[in-house]
Amino acid sequence: MTLHQALQQAAAQGLARLDAQLLLLHLLGRPGTDRGWLIAHDDTMLAPPLRETFSALCRRRADGEPLAYLLGEKEFFGLRLQVDPRVLVPRPDTETLVEWALELLQHRLAPRVIDLGTGSGAIALAIRQARADAVVEAVDRSAGALEVAAANAHALGLAVDLRQASWLEGAQGPYELIVSNPPYVAAGDPHLADLRHEPVSALVAGADGLDDLRAIVQAAPALLAPGGWLLLEHGWHQAQAVRGLLTAAGLVDTASRRDLAGIERCSGACRLELG
Ligand code: GLN
Repeated sequence: MTLHQALQQAAAQGLARLDAQLLLLHLLGRPGTDRGWLIAHDDTMLAPPLRETFSALCRRRADGEPLAYLLGEKEFFGLRLQVDPRVLVPRPDTETLVEWALELLQHRLAPRVIDLGTGSGAIALAIRQARADAVVEAVDRSAGALEVAAANAHALGLAVDLRQASWLEGAQGPYELIVSNPPYVAAGDPHLADLRHEPVSALVAGADGLDDLRAIVQAAPALLAPGGWLLLEHGWHQAQAVRGLLTAAGLVDTASRRDLAGIERCSGACRLELG
């Protein structure tokens, strides 16, 4: 079977052309940027064992497994992160949160930052990469997630202090920034069927999806430096509720930002400056 035929078979299995090309390149040990090579060499023969492996990968993709798990990596904010089913796949929407975080840190030297529920380490590592002077902590309740985050920090050569904890438990403030992309999907949300391959502990937060957001907003103000910010990602219909939680917690300058799809995807607020 040629590479061309393998790709045709993948299309017949229901795969998008790009997904099939990326899986095939991965199998051949080539970078995803080599799609031109694939087209130029589409009469190359694919050995039977590789053919079997490719077809198995295609079946898993057709069954809804995220491409990132099959490739073992995902790009986030210009960083190549290792991912596996122990962590949520980093979403481009979350780059909105990182951009906002970096703006807020712009005029602060050596800011102390903590990322809650870091998963693959995406947010913490993106901040640390952009701000070498930042002192970044990242916590997760899941030991497996911390292993993935540690591997990413090591591979990228970025110093982030990793610790196993639930939200702000054991944290020593004050922080200039507390940031989190916590679970925020409501239990029973039909959308969860599409996310079935990802860790449910990273996705679901009680009947209304706000349980973890509430816990974080409650604990954060006491650990923020004066003028420090709490930034949170949340669901498409939760912006108003989260702004309400932030204001009720005594924080000020409450605002929301839209993701790439134009949806209010993160909200934040700041602890009042002294004086
Ligand atoms: N953004 C994810 C989704 O709904 C959910 C991530 C989360 O709960 N933090 O696809």
